[in-house]
Amino acid sequence: MHEMSLCEGILQIIQTEAKAQQFNKVKRVVLDIGVLSGVEIPALEFSFEVVMRGSIAEQAELQINEIPAQAWCMQCADSVTVKQRYDACPECGSYQLQVSSGDEMKIKELEVD
Ligand SMILES: [Zn+2]
Repeated sequence: MHEMSLCEGILQIIQTEAKAQQFNKVKRVVLDIGVLSGVEIPALEFSFEVVMRGSIAEQAELQINEIPAQAWCMQCADSVTVKQRYDACPECGSYQLQVSSGDEMKIKELEVD
């Protein structure tokens, strides 16, 4: 499962950070998840709970920011917001879009003790 390995990656980052910054408890994890990343939020929440169990982030509250995707529309010569990769331009209906963001998956913030 995609979400499971994503959470394992997050845990690795947390453990590395914990060593570097010498904290031993994570209170809150804020994630930026692009709408084009293919991540399912309920699956991500479930995986987070499973993967963090027994770790320093076991009690951590998970907050997920869904980041809208940006694309460049050739017709409008402007940047527009899209909800899916093969969406038409919401302004002019053109399919000549170049998606420029929306597939990010990253830790935005770690609140630690
Ligand atoms: Zn357009």
